[in-house]
Amino acid sequence: MLLGRKQLLINGEWRDAASGAVMPVVNPATEEVIAEVASATRDDLDATVAAAREALAGPWGKMSARERGRLIWKLGERLMEKVDEVARLETLHNGKPISESRHVEIPMAAECLQYFAGWADKIQGDTIPVKGNALVYTLREPLGVVAAIVPWNFPLLLAMWKVAPALATGNTVILKPASQTPLTALAVGQLAIDVGFPPGVFNVLTGSGSTLGQLIVEHPGIDKIAFTGDTSTGRGIMKTAADTIKHITLELGGKSPNIVFPDADLDAAVRGATVGIFYGKGEVCAAGSRLLVDKSIKDQFIAKVAERTKKMVAGDPLDPKTRLGAISSKSQLERVLNYVEIAKSEGASLVAGGSRTDIGTGKGYFMQPTVFADVTPAMTVAREEIFGPVLAAIEFADVDEAIARANDSIYGLAAVVWTRDIKKAHYVASKLKAGTVWVNTYNVYDTAAPFGGYKQSGFGREMSRYALDYYTQVKTVWVDLS
Ligand code: NAD
Repeated sequence: MLLGRKQLLINGEWRDAASGAVMPVVNPATEEVIAEVASATRDDLDATVAAAREALAGPWGKMSARERGRLIWKLGERLMEKVDEVARLETLHNGKPISESRHVEIPMAAECLQYFAGWADKIQGDTIPVKGNALVYTLREPLGVVAAIVPWNFPLLLAMWKVAPALATGNTVILKPASQTPLTALAVGQLAIDVGFPPGVFNVLTGSGSTLGQLIVEHPGIDKIAFTGDTSTGRGIMKTAADTIKHITLELGGKSPNIVFPDADLDAAVRGATVGIFYGKGEVCAAGSRLLVDKSIKDQFIAKVAERTKKMVAGDPLDPKTRLGAISSKSQLERVLNYVEIAKSEGASLVAGGSRTDIGTGKGYFMQPTVFADVTPAMTVAREEIFGPVLAAIEFADVDEAIARANDSIYGLAAVVWTRDIKKAHYVASKLKAGTVWVNTYNVYDTAAPFGGYKQSGFGREMSRYALDYYTQVKTVWVDLS
């Protein structure tokens, strides 16, 4: 085993699970077990919640906001010092190209910490004019213990989107990474110890979603669940969290439309269509998985997308030149290939890819990037989130039909408009039911810009000052001055 055995981070200490249980971590590019992590259950969770609550009342709760910010900043700084090491871990357990981990994901995670570090001493309330002789003011206080439950596609970035604002606003955190990708969360746990976070402030528990995840959502000592994952898991979390009236934010699935009008810069739109779906192997919640193309340009446009797609070849994720890595797990590869079969059986035309592939090693969960044409809005491939490198191209007749088809989904995470007509761009952006609309670009993010869903893509916003509202509660103080 390349990386050995990893423990739980509870109260500033590394511990085995109370039960002694462990889970394997597999490198999807080689199918080898690269590490074992502790599998936490109720006893471990109880100890962690007790430590997180004690920290709230202890040095963390008493620390000045500016000092808190300084520590979070240092954590971001230390993460960038270790970027090569952490990026390698991210690629080893997820299968994404090292170019994505090293130059995009981990730097964005560090930037997120430093962005929110800057907010720590700028969280303030209001004074409110009221009738009568009273001083009324508000305080924005932390919620308490926040549990961050995250998926396997951007393991560290999605964790930091939650951990950074939670810590900046004075909460303590229990981070539960996905069972497939626990290594980078644990690595950052060690960095938090190194930079001097008090015990109990940042805890990392590894374990399965159905046992540990479920126990976290049920636990009465946890005040908030910040969740990213599948819409069906989010539904279950919402129901379970009702029993203890927990705060929740849910960042869920997507089926984002990429709308191409005939007056667009079509070469840029072709690049956007392929990057929009194949970046991160399509395991991206905001992936542009539905390509909506005006029927007057449909044939030529899809031919160009297919041509570009066929040139994309999967490679060793650790090779800096690789742009398409391994699907994250065997079960995910099987799921995606099953959708390919469903699309064929429902009458979609396969114009690129469609099969499992390998990189010359005979190992690893690699898949060809795949494009389907002649997809109709009713087909499964147009409706369900596949979460893999599969693009479904659908035609539209005019602007109104483009908008109607784009909005014809239970999801509403992101959408894209390609046009040179500025009026059309703003008009369509205003009509799309999505939390993010990109115009003439795709997949751009910045920590200062909010991100989150409409409809069944969830609620709450990550990044930006909007996120702060989801980690604080407002106390109103009335002082009688009569
Ligand atoms: P998942 O829902 O299976 O798992 C997500 C996390 O929840 C994991 O840590 C898992 O262990 C845990 N979990 C599973 N069952 C649980 C339960 N009953 N109670 C509590 N926790 C539980 O999702 P996944 O397959 O890891 O991730 C893919 C999904 O994430 C896709 O649907 C994707 O669109 C979504 N996603 C959304 C965003 C966004 O910002 N909207 C970003 C990335 C991924």
